[in-house]
Amino acid sequence: MVRRGLTSFEEILGSADHVTVVRAPGRVNLIGDHTDYNDGFVLPMTIDRSACVSARARRDEEVVLYSTHFREKIRYPLHDMPISEAGSWTSYVGGVIEELRRAGGITSGVDMIVDGDIPLGAGLSSSAALNVAVAHALDVVFGLELDPIETVRLCRAVEHRYAGLECGIMDPFVSRFGRAGSALLLDCRSFEYEHIPFSPFSDSAAHLSLAIVDSRVTRELATSRYGVRHAECLQAAAAVREAHPSVESLRDVTPEMLSACRSDMDDRLYRRARHVLDENARVLNAADALRDGAFDRFGALMNGSHASLRDLFEVSCPELDTLVSAAQRTEGVLGARMTGGGFGGCTVNLVRTPAVGEFEATLRKAYLTAHGRSPRLYVVSRNDRTETLIDGRD
Ligand code: ADP
Ligand code: MG
Repeated sequence: MVRRGLTSFEEILGSADHVTVVRAPGRVNLIGDHTDYNDGFVLPMTIDRSACVSARARRDEEVVLYSTHFREKIRYPLHDMPISEAGSWTSYVGGVIEELRRAGGITSGVDMIVDGDIPLGAGLSSSAALNVAVAHALDVVFGLELDPIETVRLCRAVEHRYAGLECGIMDPFVSRFGRAGSALLLDCRSFEYEHIPFSPFSDSAAHLSLAIVDSRVTRELATSRYGVRHAECLQAAAAVREAHPSVESLRDVTPEMLSACRSDMDDRLYRRARHVLDENARVLNAADALRDGAFDRFGALMNGSHASLRDLFEVSCPELDTLVSAAQRTEGVLGARMTGGGFGGCTVNLVRTPAVGEFEATLRKAYLTAHGRSPRLYVVSRNDRTETLIDGRD
């Protein structure tokens, strides 16, 4: 990907002298969905697919951007970012440049090529990886010495302001802080985090593999439904707050408090809150299971998470349910669940490595029979981290 970045730079922008190349990985959330915007816990890890950004400062005040994926080039004055469609590639890239420019430190225009191998819109967080990679590239090119936590906040703000998605902190956080050979336990309230050793790769001593299965169901309605779930969580917290004024978010609600409020609450809100409380507990138990090397226990928690997302939080869909139940019935699968926002996207599966072939065949067959199409399968081979591949200032 480094070579591709440099070659594109030469072809599209003239020469590749002094070009900085960075990458930032996508992620899969092992457990803990719809907990991040409720100040809860999540346990994601980065994958072996990344956004890759090549950049170089210009002598003038022009911004020249090219996307390899969209084969599209745009050019604008640094101080006059054009309005682009929310969620378009230029809204993300231009958004990060604009926010960093306003914060100070970007003193000239920039040439930039964005590339990557994370499937777009599949729920592996290509957008957060793109934001993190752009911020990291600008950090290196302009010597900004950004605080990593501030970078993560800025990347989330770009999703809010330029893509119109009120997402939580998890995606940019894990892309920026994730490390090889470990999952990341993150407290989305305090931003405290812990790297927990975990390498479910085919060559690992535990002989476990992590398989991601893309349902290929596009998440067109996902954004609006995501907003509805977010609002329901706020309403559920508000309902408990009537009896317990100190409650700021569902993070502050205990199972006892929720049970005591149940009769005064809309049942739908109760079920949303119940999922969030249980899911937070599952994340902490899953982290313990990883520390103990208790992968069966970990897998059972994944299965429990899926049932809760399906039945209580209601963010699964028939396609995801087919993939998860077929996986859970397959010998050698320790756990399977939908991952990410839901209504499409991917499932994540912990599979004994010798069973991966059988797992794939079973899922293909079940999916084809039930939904008339094939899923896309990725077996994660390592987990990458945000890094500078070439420092153009050297
Ligand atoms: P996800 O983050 O789950 O992959 P999103 O819909 O949030 O899905 O983000 C996908 C969007 O992010 C794409 O439509 C595109 O605008 C942008 N994007 C992400 N990665 C790239 C990339 N490498 N090149 C160009 N645009 C990208
Ligand atoms: Mg995204």
